[in-house]
Amino acid sequence: MDVRAQIVMVFNLDKCIGCHTCSISCKNIWTDRKGAEYAWWNNVETKPGIGFPKQWEDQGKYKGGFAVKNGELKLKLGGKFATLLSMFYQPNMPKLEDYYEPFDFDYSNLYNAAESDDQPVADAISQITGKRMDTISGGPNWDDDLSGSPVYAAEDLNLEDRKIIEEYGKIFMLYLPRICNHCLHAACMASCPSKAIYKRGEDGIVLIDQNVCKGWRFCTSACPYKKVYFNWHTGKSEKCIFCYPRVETGQCNACVQSCVGKIRYVGVLLYDASQVGNALIKPDADLVQAQRALILDPKDRAVQEGARANGVSDAWLKAAISSPVYTLVKEYGLALPLHPEFRTMPMTYYIPPLSPVLASKTGAYELAEHGHGTIPPIETLRVPIGYLSSLFSAGNQEIVSDVLKKLIALRQYMRQQNLGESPDEKVLRDVSLDPEAAARLHRLFAIGGFNERNVIPPQQREEHEPAGRKGGRGFGILVKPKGGI
Ligand code: SF4
Ligand code: SF4
Repeated sequence: MDVRAQIVMVFNLDKCIGCHTCSISCKNIWTDRKGAEYAWWNNVETKPGIGFPKQWEDQGKYKGGFAVKNGELKLKLGGKFATLLSMFYQPNMPKLEDYYEPFDFDYSNLYNAAESDDQPVADAISQITGKRMDTISGGPNWDDDLSGSPVYAAEDLNLEDRKIIEEYGKIFMLYLPRICNHCLHAACMASCPSKAIYKRGEDGIVLIDQNVCKGWRFCTSACPYKKVYFNWHTGKSEKCIFCYPRVETGQCNACVQSCVGKIRYVGVLLYDASQVGNALIKPDADLVQAQRALILDPKDRAVQEGARANGVSDAWLKAAISSPVYTLVKEYGLALPLHPEFRTMPMTYYIPPLSPVLASKTGAYELAEHGHGTIPPIETLRVPIGYLSSLFSAGNQEIVSDVLKKLIALRQYMRQQNLGESPDEKVLRDVSLDPEAAARLHRLFAIGGFNERNVIPPQQREEHEPAGRKGGRGFGILVKPKGGI
């Protein structure tokens, strides 16, 4: 057992209201500068939709992430030979039109325009050329709230039944906030020929050393989540840094701090690094379970000893024990990785949404059939299980169904309690929960304070190895699986 610590974020999608406050707070702090105008380290996508950059989930087009070949994990982009061949031209990289031409508005014209019969307007000015733009054809949230649109929603690869868009009243919508996942098996890191990308030993945050980066941009192509952005001004690649200057002092990330819906949770997970390679070569349907199995119980003495032997401090062990992330990801198995089939082992997790669970005004929803007349069976939920399992469990519908059943049971039980009815514990037991679990989860989802949702231990960087670097192999494979499937 090789026990490591990772700082992790969980998103509760039932609570995201798509306000984009997270994206703006991130941009104001980190990417409000020349060359990074188009870079949104945090963005929020409307699903079904094509996302940002356009169609980022399409690995047939972008060749991001890893594939299993002869029992080994290989970058879809290719190994050393392919890297050398495509040093100066990479056909798989997103282009400017896949993002958008960044622009600002000429607000001064509103004040300084010459007198005229027409209202003055603030023209769009390209932040790359500085010239006036006649048309704007893209933006960071170009398909925001357009899930009924055949132009965007129909192009979502997760949508099996595209007819749903044409059937009035059937389409659904959810928001998907995204940051870099600070993956355990980061494709960006594996692909960098300059070895500029590294995973910090002390907290697992993946960073790009700006002094080493040569701007080859293999990381941009290799990251299946398209979360590495090339800064055209500095000529270096950049990405989300998990707000490490804040995290190091025990504060949470800017996106978390500003989140209006309080949908985000931050905490520590301990995991067994020696099993990462084995877990990643499992068949698609088993990837979520394999990823869960790596996560270790922080209360286990042997795990604690293993962690201490690897330099994990007591403050981090304490934080791991009270980690809301451990509760959500491992203890109750409610939070799932985004596209585990990309095989980078992402370290952000998502609680899939139930919504809407309440009756429509007309009462036409088949609510009366079910239990207490308010919460429908999961098969009748508006967001299809197949769609959610394409996003969060590599197509394994059983895993998503289990999560939804637990969430439904939790709502049902807490509703009975809050209405002064005698709560039915069987509802919980049927989904392997109990009243204690319900109380803990209710606090995390509904009434818990900031410090319950975010448990971040401060760090003393002087305790760590110089630069705290780990990984950064370049040219291909990061970990080798031990044994077979
Ligand atoms: S999501 Fe994973 S592969 Fe992509 S930049 Fe982040 S760590 Fe690298
Ligand atoms: S601030 Fe929170 S609620 Fe608003 S879009 Fe971002 S994640 Fe969603």
